[in-house]
Amino acid sequence: MGKPRFPEQEKDPNFWNRWAQQTLNNAVTLQNLNKNKAKNLILFLGDGMGVPTVTAARILKGQLSGHSGEETQLEMDKFPFVSLAKTYNTNAQVPDSAGTATAYLCGVKANEGTVGVSAAAVRSQCNTTKGNEVTSILRWAKDAKKSVGIVTTTRVNHATPSAAYAHCVDREWYSDNEMPADALQSGCKDIARQLFENIPNIDVIMGGGRKYMYPKNMPDVEYPTQSKHNGTRKDGRNLVEEWSNKMKNERAHYVWNKKQLLSLNPNNVDYLLGLFEPVEMSYELERNTDTDPSLTEMVDVAINILKKNPSGFYLLVEGGRIDHGHHEGKAKQALHEAVEMDRAIGRAGLLTSTHDTLSVVTADHSHVFSFGGYTHRGNTIFGLSPMLSDVDQKPFTAILYGNGPGYKIVNGGRENISTTKYEENNYQAQAAVPLSLETHGGEDVAVFAKGPLAHLLHGVHEQNYIPHVMAYAACIGQNKEHCYLNGGSVGLQPLFSSIATILMVTWLLC
Ligand SMILES: [Zn+2]
Repeated sequence: MGKPRFPEQEKDPNFWNRWAQQTLNNAVTLQNLNKNKAKNLILFLGDGMGVPTVTAARILKGQLSGHSGEETQLEMDKFPFVSLAKTYNTNAQVPDSAGTATAYLCGVKANEGTVGVSAAAVRSQCNTTKGNEVTSILRWAKDAKKSVGIVTTTRVNHATPSAAYAHCVDREWYSDNEMPADALQSGCKDIARQLFENIPNIDVIMGGGRKYMYPKNMPDVEYPTQSKHNGTRKDGRNLVEEWSNKMKNERAHYVWNKKQLLSLNPNNVDYLLGLFEPVEMSYELERNTDTDPSLTEMVDVAINILKKNPSGFYLLVEGGRIDHGHHEGKAKQALHEAVEMDRAIGRAGLLTSTHDTLSVVTADHSHVFSFGGYTHRGNTIFGLSPMLSDVDQKPFTAILYGNGPGYKIVNGGRENISTTKYEENNYQAQAAVPLSLETHGGEDVAVFAKGPLAHLLHGVHEQNYIPHVMAYAACIGQNKEHCYLNGGSVGLQPLFSSIATILMVTWLLC
């Protein structure tokens, strides 16, 4: 295991004092609050990216570039304001991605399994939809003439993105194929259809989920011989073709692979529909880099299209498969997904300015993922604890899950992993309780913010507070009165105080 090693300079108190003083100097500048009006809003949502995942992803990012990792800064770490969000659903202590998406997109807490409907709606009961719809910040932005976009690594009709445009009592009603007959007869609509019918002309849509857009049994363009990827729609509609027809007089493009995407000049594109896989996009570690864009590449194109609107934009970016890696007990997949989302955050930072863009990074919920075991500084994040268990005398990995598919008993005891390849991409870390899918965690998640009024994301708050702040900063949605009193700045005090100063000076001079 060797002795713990760390840079020689860290033995010098001056090193730590200097670093802390530099950090303090930067913090002092934050006393001049950014009260600009936010022209643009970006929400980065790491699905399942709890705080342990953020820390482990930070270490991984550092180790990928040859450092010990702990001291590394993620892009999200550089955001000046951080708060905590309480993630529970109205009917669940440990939430799911649908109810939470309704909270951080529509501003209203809701039941698990439902999207874009209030807690008065009951999961899977079609007749509880009507009258209980709630609208999202994406809709508020569109109503305010901003451009709007959705970029995800999951299906575009998956839980997270769907709360931005759909009102559905069941997150799994991806297309009419997944809906019960009585729900269809009662007039409930599948989520794929709502993507194109609810909010007119969402400017940018990118992710997976192609098969839900095409007629049942229609072969997929990329995998024509694999019937599991065939279209699913029982109503026989071709939603991509319908979209293309509707958009034929616009500068609109449908793309389904990376080459098509990167050949576009965003200056000449106003509407983009990109569907890169039949269901989810690949894990970043398994991505075909010739045919599939990364999250960072999608975000780059999205922002360059959206930013042309002089009224600004709202963009939802989801690192959607952090969650899937954890559910499978595959921490390495999950953490590489988180690192890729962090890369996308960095790219977005280069394409926008904190002067006029409020950027928020958060998660919908955590997972029962942990890492510990008194590991030494710089220990590979996928490695072993330096100690053996003093109970079963066997080694253990730093990363463990509270439950999940990694539970395994060999010869009546915990598996001895000393010869196991626990650093492989698909290794399933040991879990205390056997489950075919690991579960979400119930603790608070971090909310990182930078840009106009980012300081209003402070303290510990309910998750549904987030879109209220973002909308307030951009003067959209239900609370806009502060915007009419003062051109340019959302904060009222500077204007009033400067008027008061002028009056005071005038009075003194008289
Ligand atoms: Zn999940």
